[in-house]
Amino acid sequence: MTSILVVDDEKIIRDGCTRILGKEGWAVQTAGSGEDGLRLLQQEPFDLLLLDLKMPGLSGMEVLQRVKDLRPELLVVIITGYATVESAVEAMKAGAYDFISKPFLPDQLRIVVRRALEKKALQREADHLRQEREKGLREIAGEKSKIKTIIHCMADGVLVTDHEGHVVLHNPALVKMLKMETSPPLGHLLDAAIRNDCLGEFVKRIRETKEGKTISQEVVVGGLTLMAHIAPVRGEEGEILGAVTVLRDVSMLKAMDQMKSDFVAMVSHELRAPLASVEQQLSVVLAGILGEVNSRQNEMLGRAKQRTHALLALINDLLDMSKIEAGFVVQHKEPVEISAMLEKVVEILKPQAEAKNIALTLSAVGVLPPVMMDRGNMEEVFINLVSNGIKYTPEKGSVNLLVRIQGSHLCVEVGDNGIGISPEDLPRIFDKFYRVKNVQTRKITGTGLGLPIVQKIVEAHLGTVEVESQPGVGSKFRVYLPLGLVAKGEV
Ligand code: ADP
Repeated sequence: MTSILVVDDEKIIRDGCTRILGKEGWAVQTAGSGEDGLRLLQQEPFDLLLLDLKMPGLSGMEVLQRVKDLRPELLVVIITGYATVESAVEAMKAGAYDFISKPFLPDQLRIVVRRALEKKALQREADHLRQEREKGLREIAGEKSKIKTIIHCMADGVLVTDHEGHVVLHNPALVKMLKMETSPPLGHLLDAAIRNDCLGEFVKRIRETKEGKTISQEVVVGGLTLMAHIAPVRGEEGEILGAVTVLRDVSMLKAMDQMKSDFVAMVSHELRAPLASVEQQLSVVLAGILGEVNSRQNEMLGRAKQRTHALLALINDLLDMSKIEAGFVVQHKEPVEISAMLEKVVEILKPQAEAKNIALTLSAVGVLPPVMMDRGNMEEVFINLVSNGIKYTPEKGSVNLLVRIQGSHLCVEVGDNGIGISPEDLPRIFDKFYRVKNVQTRKITGTGLGLPIVQKIVEAHLGTVEVESQPGVGSKFRVYLPLGLVAKGEV
């Protein structure tokens, strides 16, 4: 409730004010002298002070000065007689808000008080807004420095660039990981800031985010293996504002992975020869060369041979994978007539397709230039894709190879009208050992290594693999190999 203090030595004025202002619903208290008024002011937070200038003892002017020290925000309205208008003006100069001359009519008093209270309300509102703004600014400043501290302390390297490739932000971990002598200067172009030949490819990748791609790539810098995750930063309209690159040191993981791969390679290698010999000997027995084999024996030995064959396939895939992971991939580049190579793949897999009554076709669109690639590696890619097509397509289906130029890439599509892959499984089929498990795939044998091998080989040729599939309709695997690089023989 609004509270008003009236300080006047004339009782009639005090009573008049109490009556008139009380009717308006304001709480009114009075004091007959300056001393009493000041005492009350110290005890209660009044909204408005009506102060008589001419009082015995402490004068109004003195009270006003004390009030300005004590409660600078308190609004003071001076009550003054005709003769002292000048001193009222003095009082206004000393900080009073308004004045009213005695004698006054009730309406005059009401108007003056109401105006003062409105001013008070506005003042309060303005104070509140200022406090809010200051609080907001403090929070923003706090947030900014919090984020800065977090980025500064991160163990991962952080690099932010704008859409033109200027360095906007980086942290000490980045400088350390990239083995830089000094911090890259902010505002400089990335190429100029990061002068390191090994990082050329990395810088190029950051520029590629302009196309909206998120890229994860390993970068090797001075013995460290770093995993770079480069993501575009988009504005409200979806436009690309720049890129955020996070570098993580994965050297330890890499070393452990290498040890694991070495171990797997060693074990697989040791197992391959004896297993191949077991398979061979089973074939000899099954062929009846050592004597007649009855139907029960035939069935059991046949199953044993099948299992041995599957184990050998797994071992071969494991060995292939560890060779690729150790970097033994794309070792012999040569210009390859892609159509001829695909014809050979079709020839090799024809018996497998015929056994299931599957039509296996190859078509080429336009004139295809010879492409620089590792023939052995690429044959493995298409053998894996086509044999998957045959494996995962029911009898009497079809598997079609289509090769064409698409923009700056050579595109080989292996399409089938088989069982297809569900949207949940699709993102995982290129993971090592991942196999889709459902009623349709239960009886189909495999290792779950075919597609990861395909992906690694294609990526080593700087290409990409993509898949489009619909359960019950079929799948299309597309391999893209860059023609530009191929023509220059830079693969
Ligand atoms: P696998 O040895 O099991 O075939 P892959 O790595 O070659 O291993 O393939 C992984 C999984 O992807 C397979 O288990 C299969 O479920 C699915 N898949 C691959 N190719 C096809 C295809 N053409 N049609 C349907 N599913 C496929």
